[in-house]
Amino acid sequence: MTTKPTICVYCGSSPGDNPYYLSAARDIGRGIAGEDWRMIYGAGNLGLMGESARSCIDAGGEVIGVIPDHLRFVEGEAMGLTALIRTETMHERKKVMFSTADAFIVLPGGPGTLDETIETLTWRQLGLHEKPFAFVDTDGYWQPFLKLMSHMAEKKFMRHSFLEYYHVAPSPEGAIDAIRAALS
Ligand code: AMP
Repeated sequence: MTTKPTICVYCGSSPGDNPYYLSAARDIGRGIAGEDWRMIYGAGNLGLMGESARSCIDAGGEVIGVIPDHLRFVEGEAMGLTALIRTETMHERKKVMFSTADAFIVLPGGPGTLDETIETLTWRQLGLHEKPFAFVDTDGYWQPFLKLMSHMAEKKFMRHSFLEYYHVAPSPEGAIDAIRAALS
């Protein structure tokens, strides 16, 4: 395997209620391959997870999947992965994804995506890393979350600098551009 920049993609194991979410996932997968980056993600073949991985592979990209044993038959594994890392626990899975990644892209997703997102951002706050992080805010999906972040800062339960740990892009292309700029 090569040492190209590795982008961790956090996203839903569901497709959402509108095809434009899947379309954004496809664009991220293709975009990562197009930049000659490598993708790491939770290995599932469902929803936005499967769509982004398949698109990256179809575009000639390298994709590493990380899956805990107990989820192998629930989330499945995308076919044609460059590498599949099996872990015993969810915590180990998150650790492998986090430590392998040079940057993070977050697509729309559910509670699992939120958990991964907030953990990565709070670790930045604690000074454990300085890895770039971009939200793909398809159709304003992340606005309620981003509003909550601003509210926390306003009410002084969070430093305002927290709001600078991430870039919010309305489109997948914008997120790719932001990560490219941050990595260069
Ligand atoms: P979701 O956004 O809920 O569709 O989940 C996206 C991914 O996050 C899936 O691979 C889930 O297995 C994973 N996930 C679900 N719950 C958690 C959790 N509590 N911590 C970390 N990852 C999770």
